[in-house]
Amino acid sequence: MPTEDRSETGAAKMRVRVYPAEVLRRVAQPVPKIKKAKFDEDLAALARRMVHTMRTEEGVGLAAPQVGESIRMIVIAPAREGESPRVLVNPVIVDASGREVMEEGCLSVPGVKAKVRRRARVKVEYEMLAGGREGFEADGLLARVVQHEIDHLDGTLFIDRLGPAGRFAVRKALGELEEAAGKRD
Ligand code: ZN
Repeated sequence: MPTEDRSETGAAKMRVRVYPAEVLRRVAQPVPKIKKAKFDEDLAALARRMVHTMRTEEGVGLAAPQVGESIRMIVIAPAREGESPRVLVNPVIVDASGREVMEEGCLSVPGVKAKVRRRARVKVEYEMLAGGREGFEADGLLARVVQHEIDHLDGTLFIDRLGPAGRFAVRKALGELEEAAGKRD
């Protein structure tokens, strides 16, 4: 039976880093194309742990910096029952169109929700864990999640994309997170 801390594959849950953690602000490193058994194993294990963490925390996506690994890999929850989660290595948005405003939250910015303006449709290309490249086009929630997670790889949080009014609205909640972090140090 999967539990809170272990998935059915034995993947252990990871601690999600919370704003204003420094790792969330770093530009993450590309995953190198080295074909070495140990490296690939480690990367696949990290992807499994990220998927398990995302599920446990009920997130729709998770980027490696959110679990303290400053590398360009993201996982995205399946849109439908029976589908597998997506694992995107070195993802790049190669085309985008339209604009759309949607409410967002983030596991790394708990308790904060805000409306964010993003591209409505995107085309993303990435490397697969097994090697080789692929891509897909997305709109709606999936397009939103792809952009939000790739932002994490560049050290950008959704709160950075708010206008003055949005920023003002989340100011207090962010202050509380900063204060809580100060107490942890
Ligand atoms: Zn996030």
